[in-house]
Amino acid sequence: MFTVPFHHDLAVVRGFLSFSRASALLVCGAALIVLAGWWLQRSPLTTMWPGQPAMTANAAAGFVLSGGSLLLSHHPAPSWSGLARWLSLGVLVLGAATLAEYLWLVDLRIDRLLGELSARDSGRMAEPVAAGFVLLGALGLLPAPRWPRVRDALALGALAIAMTGLASYGIALAGKGTMPFGRMPLHSALLVLLTTLGWLCASPTLGLTRVATADTLGGALARRLLLPALLLSAVFAFVFELLQSWLGLPETLAFVFVALFSGGAVAGLVWWVASLFDKLERQRRESTVLRNDAGTDILTGLPNRRAFDEALAGLLRGQREHDTMFSLLMFDLDHFKTFNDEFGHLAGDQVLRITGHLLRAALRPADMAARYGGEEFVLLLPGTDISGASEVATRLLDAFRGFAWPHCRVTVSIGMAQTVAGDVAEDLIRRADSALYDAKRGGRDRAVAAIALPQVSRPGPFPRAAPGP
Ligand code: GH3
Ligand code: MG
Ligand code: MG
Repeated sequence: MFTVPFHHDLAVVRGFLSFSRASALLVCGAALIVLAGWWLQRSPLTTMWPGQPAMTANAAAGFVLSGGSLLLSHHPAPSWSGLARWLSLGVLVLGAATLAEYLWLVDLRIDRLLGELSARDSGRMAEPVAAGFVLLGALGLLPAPRWPRVRDALALGALAIAMTGLASYGIALAGKGTMPFGRMPLHSALLVLLTTLGWLCASPTLGLTRVATADTLGGALARRLLLPALLLSAVFAFVFELLQSWLGLPETLAFVFVALFSGGAVAGLVWWVASLFDKLERQRRESTVLRNDAGTDILTGLPNRRAFDEALAGLLRGQREHDTMFSLLMFDLDHFKTFNDEFGHLAGDQVLRITGHLLRAALRPADMAARYGGEEFVLLLPGTDISGASEVATRLLDAFRGFAWPHCRVTVSIGMAQTVAGDVAEDLIRRADSALYDAKRGGRDRAVAAIALPQVSRPGPFPRAAPGP
């Protein structure tokens, strides 16, 4: 099955790459400030946020390595991206060694790795931060175009850790005072979030990120909704605890309000997406109407010359590819100039409108009648040979003869032609036109069939049928 490849918005791709570099710089910068804080023994620099526990020196070192690896990965030179992998390996080892200390209670002296930075022991980084480093390190170790699903899984794991940290901070902020989901400080949660998003945006046309850079409605929605959705967990947790701790609501009532809040938020989101789809659908219908208008003749409401050309090209393609056949009828009103001169152009226009009605009434659903120009019309009859076309022509001549015309009797002359193998549009039209002139010369108010002569060879991709009589 043919699938249309992803088409990316280049400006958005560039924006994502810039965001990735900026987040790497921010992560490195923030972590370096923490390290400087430990070095200079300035505790406000190590906590970064009032009321937060300090970021450990090892965690800060991990973020410097991780941010550095992300930054270097943007460099096109292979030696720099090789160095980026080594830095990521360092991040992974740091996180894994700390987790090993927690899990198996071994003392690998990780927390004293940077002990000489400060007289004080900076402590062991929290478990979620260590787990985050394992995932971020692995993410930086995998080369970008390969292993897209593994990279996505690692990034999702790191995002989950960051969101848990943010939700836990939301609860602490609302008054609990303690962080229920581990001792992950806010700054660490934010830096894990930033580094993960940075890695995702470093390869904007791959994996999870590719839909967010797509030049489609889905891409536009993803760009607007994904980040707020990531932060929603922190907002919900904050609101829940706020209702309980600050407003003193019992837990059940607080839960009901949060359920209302989350339901309302989701409903708001659905409403917004629905109105966007609604607007786009109406624009699509409008453009369809405009496109149809462009193919319609204003006076008669029939398809115009342009629509006829397209339909004829389609039928000829069908004939070449599937060996189908069809007939073309060309109409010209008789002595119409005289009619106009005698009864005026408005009366002439009325005749053209009635002609449109009569043609439409005579057609099967698959047939097409079009105004070719002036007082000339064409009929396309798919799957109909010249004898079938003659029957249609006879019916139409009778309809014209039997119609109660307002001013005087109006007749029409018809030229008919059936396709032969190798026909191009001009061949068929020329034959029908030639038959039409025969009908005029023969006394008008009649139909004449073109005789398709046997094919003669011609230079070009298709053999040409000989012109009509
Ligand atoms: P013949 O039987 O040989 O076809 O004679 P004729 O007078 O119909 O000759 P011709 O086909 O050359 O004349 C076309 C006339 O159709 C000329 C023009 O005044 C008229 N006509 C073309 N378009 C329109 C239109 O949109 N409205 C009106 N009222 N007349 C039109
Ligand atoms: Mg004419
Ligand atoms: Mg005419």
